[in-house]
Amino acid sequence: MATPGSAPQEFDLVTIGAGSGGVRASRFAAQYYNAKVACIELPFGFVSSEDVGGAGGTCVIRGCVPKKLLVYGAAFNEEFADAKGFGWQEVQPPHDWKTLIANKAKEISRLNSVYVNLLRNAGVAYYEGKGSLLDKNTVQVTRPDGSKEVLRAKNILIATGGYATKLPIEGAEHAISSDQALHLEALPDKSVLIVGSGYIAVEFAGIFKGLGADVHLMYRADKPLRGFDEECRGQVAENLTKRGVVCHGGHLPTKIVKHDEGHYTVSYKSPDGPEQSMEVGLVMMATGRSPRTQGLGLEAVGVQLNNKGAIKVDEVSSTGVPGVWAIGDVTDRINLTPVALMEGMAFAKTAFGGQPTKPDYQNVASAVFCQPPLASVGLSEEQAIAQLSGAIDVYVSKFKPMKYTISGRDERTLMKLLVHHESDRVVGCHMVGPDAAEIMQGLAIALKCGATKAQFDATVGIHPSAAEEFVTMRTRTRQVEGKGAAKL
Ligand code: FAD
Ligand code: NDP
Repeated sequence: MATPGSAPQEFDLVTIGAGSGGVRASRFAAQYYNAKVACIELPFGFVSSEDVGGAGGTCVIRGCVPKKLLVYGAAFNEEFADAKGFGWQEVQPPHDWKTLIANKAKEISRLNSVYVNLLRNAGVAYYEGKGSLLDKNTVQVTRPDGSKEVLRAKNILIATGGYATKLPIEGAEHAISSDQALHLEALPDKSVLIVGSGYIAVEFAGIFKGLGADVHLMYRADKPLRGFDEECRGQVAENLTKRGVVCHGGHLPTKIVKHDEGHYTVSYKSPDGPEQSMEVGLVMMATGRSPRTQGLGLEAVGVQLNNKGAIKVDEVSSTGVPGVWAIGDVTDRINLTPVALMEGMAFAKTAFGGQPTKPDYQNVASAVFCQPPLASVGLSEEQAIAQLSGAIDVYVSKFKPMKYTISGRDERTLMKLLVHHESDRVVGCHMVGPDAAEIMQGLAIALKCGATKAQFDATVGIHPSAAEEFVTMRTRTRQVEGKGAAKL
């Protein structure tokens, strides 16, 4: 650390933000390209929804990892319910929320230290504090005690992620975001209202429902998960309803009144309908995230933002200001951890490896960890029709999973393949059902390799599994006509 009056430390790279993208880029630059790197991150801990930090970033501290731990916790409910048909008697023990949250917090704290060590072991200088640009080669670190230090940098990487946004309605301040949802002292004994129907809303609906709350999901669209394959969206909506989540499609809240901690009245309506209201114990808004660019000094350096407030970058993540780069959610390309990792590695190769490298956004698989999960890679049926030219063969399989024949659960698994008829290329795979995320990862490799339907058909299945259905769909369900220009 420089002492007051001493010359600032010089680095090849200063990264602001030690989340998925920032950690990966910093480690790669230091370990594989011998760059002298510093990485700045806010202090670990939950301060407020606008100010949360810690090495590991959103994914590790307040996103993918704690969320998935809660999903695992909630999934036991289903196992207990399904066990009876297999001869297990009276398996529905009470759940202790506090134990789950305490164990989750312990694991996240451990992971935070792991991420600090990952950086340090790679030779990266780790600075705890808030980073901001003074000019295109100078970064200021404001430490938690208010003291400041200046670092000189040949390159600056902005990897500051995003933050949760709320609908601008009266009483919105009473709604929590996913940040607070991961830290609740207790599960509300009244209902939980979740607003939104994207990834976070649908995943938390499953968590709260599985752990014993009454859950209402309210959103403006007709079905949850806009952007995913329509048929899969329908299946998720059906599953949510069958599992007891009350879905209020086509409605949005207009006002939230807080009576007490744990007691709110929410007014809501559809565009043409009358105003209605409900009493709930908790309101959570999961209505999107915005890039975190405030207070970074970007304007002074000339870094441009797009109309959504994200940092504008070119194909190799340069902002256009020489030596200033940006990756991850702050650039709002595909806001997923593995994409931020890919952008971080591509950046390090470009800036320090002498090989300009564009991240490849083709066939990025993703999963929504609702119960059961939805996973996808490639085009949805609607995207295939809009983008491709010529006939598209659609294969759909909907079946009762073997486990449910005995457990008695009334739920179907949906699997879907989209094939470009002329080239025989598989252009989309989708699944709503148990283990969908685990199954989809392998199919993503197949799509990346340009696999054809004939190659899927020539693959021998693993029996008995649900996954084998993807290589045994022989009968086309329908053929649709592409209206786009893309030929394969
Ligand atoms: P982040 O991981 O957000 O890291 C940015 C870091 O910068 C943060 O640690 C922040 O504290 C720090 N920072 C910000 N400003 C400053 C500053 N001025 N100075 C110093 N540090 C600063 N993605 C998936 O792929 N799978 C999932 O299952 C999944 N689940 C999610 C669940 C939730 C609830 C949420 C919110 C997100 C989830 N995501 C998931 C998305 C994923 O977390 C993000 O896409 C990913 O973390 C983006 O990485 P990043 O490096 O761009 O930003
Ligand atoms: P999403 O973009 O997925 O969903 C936002 C939701 O808010 C949508 O239902 C959207 O409605 C609604 N919404 C947005 N603006 C308005 C508005 N003005 N009025 C009414 N409704 C509105 O965001 P999330 O917050 O769920 O998650 C943020 C991102 O984090 C995700 O997009 C994803 O990239 C990442 N993530 C990934 C996960 C995973 O990989 N499993 C898990 C969690 C997050 P509409 O659909 O009608 O536009």
